Amino acid sequence: MSEKPQHWPMSQFQSKDGELLVGGIPLRRLAARVGQTPFYAYDRRLLSERVRHLRASLPEGIQLHFAMKANPMPAVVQHLAPLVDGLDVASLKELRVALDTGTDPAHISFAGPGKGEVEIRAAVAAGITLNIESERELPLLAKASAELGVPARVAVRVNPDFELKGAGMKMGGGSQQFGIDAERVPEILARIGELNLDFQGFHIFTGSQNLRSEAITTAHDAIFALAYRLAEHAPQALSHLNIGGGFGVPYFPGDKPLDLAPIAANLARHQAEASERLGGQCALVIELGRYLVAESGIYVCEILDRKLSRGEVLLISNGGLHHHLSAAGLFGQIIRKNYPVAIGTKMGSADIETASVVGPLCTPLDLLANKMELARAEAGDLVVVYQSGAYGMSASPKDFLSHNYPVEVLV
Ligand SMILES: *Cc1c(COP(=O)(O)O)cnc(C)c1O
Repeated sequence: MSEKPQHWPMSQFQSKDGELLVGGIPLRRLAARVGQTPFYAYDRRLLSERVRHLRASLPEGIQLHFAMKANPMPAVVQHLAPLVDGLDVASLKELRVALDTGTDPAHISFAGPGKGEVEIRAAVAAGITLNIESERELPLLAKASAELGVPARVAVRVNPDFELKGAGMKMGGGSQQFGIDAERVPEILARIGELNLDFQGFHIFTGSQNLRSEAITTAHDAIFALAYRLAEHAPQALSHLNIGGGFGVPYFPGDKPLDLAPIAANLARHQAEASERLGGQCALVIELGRYLVAESGIYVCEILDRKLSRGEVLLISNGGLHHHLSAAGLFGQIIRKNYPVAIGTKMGSADIETASVVGPLCTPLDLLANKMELARAEAGDLVVVYQSGAYGMSASPKDFLSHNYPVEVLV
């Protein structure tokens, strides 16, 4: 049985004379310009368009943050920084990239379990908000603040007492390495007050890759209710409430794009209530990673060999799981499914066959497309993996087997 994505070819990219266009550039010409395959290409027009679409869909006043770990390429972050309201970082290196964009430190936050003392000091020195995920971080913040003579902005990441249904990856509820259990938060807030730290607000993130809007609205209802309960214990008024993100993108056959309309209507209702209960100074923040970047990016590799094995067509490429772990199905998928893949140099071809695209690694896991219907391709043709703008390059084990690294370009 062949597995063919229903949304193929991906409509955000056009093609001309049988070749995919990326930022208006025919794929072969782009490959020549890059100077090597494999490479990742991100389309800046699509990135801008995605932010515009979100702004137009969500109620005015909702702030958008970019969770940089989805795509920390400096050029991408530079492009997005002036379009969004803030950046969320998860490491010191991401913090440096974020600060390089000139974003106001007040609009940069740092989350992640297991922050080191050096990272905490850097966050305080930079004047960004640290989302604490453990009681252990509090005295370190106070120490850094005293030594540097800079107030320490702190928000509390809460591990909620509920779970987000339908999330591809749960990051809240039950026992978690993320955040502080909701029932412990009042005590933590008291300590923040005692230590004279500059309390900013709450960060409540429940899970990732959700395509069901009713699951997201239900989570938002629970997040606001929890925030109101916890705010009663806050040492000072909240300057922001970060309600997480979790907006998913369609990757697999049958996946439907997230319907923003019910989420927006529900948020508008909450916005009015939040302004009453938390005060007009409290900004409402949504932080998104993949939703902002995934669909703007492609991964491109080159076919080296067309091999027939017992009746099956294997297209052997110079790219694979070492560059794109997610497309190989090894980044959070439980059952491997094909990402949308096409032969970017044979777009619209009527000569279709069932083929698999494999990589050069010595493991059967190195599979970019499993028995998909693809245009008949030869050595030299270019394979395109769509939906690759998030968790591609930076989420992959690039040293495995010591092949060349892919290059990244923003076009
Ligand atoms: C990873 C992460 C995100 C981004 O998740 P996406 O699924 O890419 O939107 C947002 N917030 C936090 C705290 C994260 O850890």
